[in-house]
Amino acid sequence: VIFGNASGKNPHHYMFLDLGHSLRDQGSVGAPVLMTLISGSEAVSSEQLSNDDLSEEVMQTLRAIFSDITIPRPSKFYATRWGSDPCSRGSYTFLPPGATDQDYHILQSPINGDGDSILLGDVGTMRLFWAGEHTTALHPSMAHGALLSGFRAAKEVIAATHLKTSKNVGSGDRPIPMTVFRSHHPTAPLQCHLCHLPGSRKREGGLFAFQRFSRQVIVHNNCAVFSPEVECADGEWKNVIKSVNRGKQIQCLGCGKNGATIGCVYRGCVRSFHFGCAELNGWDFEEKGKEFHCDVHQRYAPHKPLEKGPFPGHDYL
Ligand SMILES: Cc1cc2nc3c(=O)[nH]c(=O)nc-3n(C[C@H](O)[C@H](O)[C@H](O)COP(=O)(O)OP(=O)(O)OC[C@H]3O[C@@H](n4cnc5c(N)ncnc54)[C@H](O)[C@@H]3O)c2cc1C
Ligand SMILES: [Zn+2]
Ligand SMILES: [Zn+2]
Ligand SMILES: [Zn+2]
Repeated sequence: VIFGNASGKNPHHYMFLDLGHSLRDQGSVGAPVLMTLISGSEAVSSEQLSNDDLSEEVMQTLRAIFSDITIPRPSKFYATRWGSDPCSRGSYTFLPPGATDQDYHILQSPINGDGDSILLGDVGTMRLFWAGEHTTALHPSMAHGALLSGFRAAKEVIAATHLKTSKNVGSGDRPIPMTVFRSHHPTAPLQCHLCHLPGSRKREGGLFAFQRFSRQVIVHNNCAVFSPEVECADGEWKNVIKSVNRGKQIQCLGCGKNGATIGCVYRGCVRSFHFGCAELNGWDFEEKGKEFHCDVHQRYAPHKPLEKGPFPGHDYL
């Protein structure tokens, strides 16, 4: 339960939350607990007040809102002081005027053994990786953004440590942080090199960047995984860039754009699609497997469902 403060008194106490009520909803006994939030410059000045003065100020606000009842003093009072907490120094990030989402990418950039950010030079071996709500341009300032950034950072660590084993050098396409792609292609739109659709998508999945020698591409997880030549196991990707190259010549029957690497496997059929366009054509990859059959030839398809399990990949932004 939330209520606002329209009394005119202490407008920086703009909202109160009945925490006891929320806890009761979750099955707990639910002590009567009220919480208020303070933001902006008032948050800074309020931190200077003693708990007694802060508590008195909050009581004045409550008395102004509920002028017709007598409100008892709280039996306990607790105030966070995030601004003066040395481990916090404020709260979550925000973009002031002049900042852009590129700043999140800078904060996300791994650091190599020389202490250089990858934005400054060539990739090298990365030693320090960053997670946290301040490192995601897609869901900043949020708990789920912090969580997703942890998945992304873990993938970067895996990619970096995999590289060091000699058997992997040169084989396969290496996942690289989107920051690396961006630093090499500062004006390129962040869109899939197979289906040409921008950003991470519910159907196509997260956008990933890959590098092989000096060539870099970005593709959706599913657009890559379901291209016939692409192999992906244990974080190792093969033939992603090969698939992008082949797709350049192949037009999609669904949307008319090139990059249609998924062709009907029925002998003699030349119909090709993007992953999403193939699904719109009536093929459910999760249900029917990777061997795509177009709507005309679907009745000849053997029933080969994919093994269940999460498909690889997370949002890379
Ligand atoms: C009042 C408030 C309300 C919010 N409401 C929501 C909401 O409704 N929904 C939502 O999704 N998000 C909300 N958020 C944001 C969310 O809580 C944060 O985005 C998220 O917790 C960030 O997680 P994190 O792991 O990036 O950083 P944090 O959770 O801040 O973790 C950083 C940790 O590092 C520690 N640390 C800092 N410096 C050092 C050091 N030198 N040495 C060792 N440790 C150090 C800190 O003590 C802290 O434990 C809210 C935040 C606040 C402040
Ligand atoms: Zn795509
Ligand atoms: Zn298409
Ligand atoms: Zn066909």
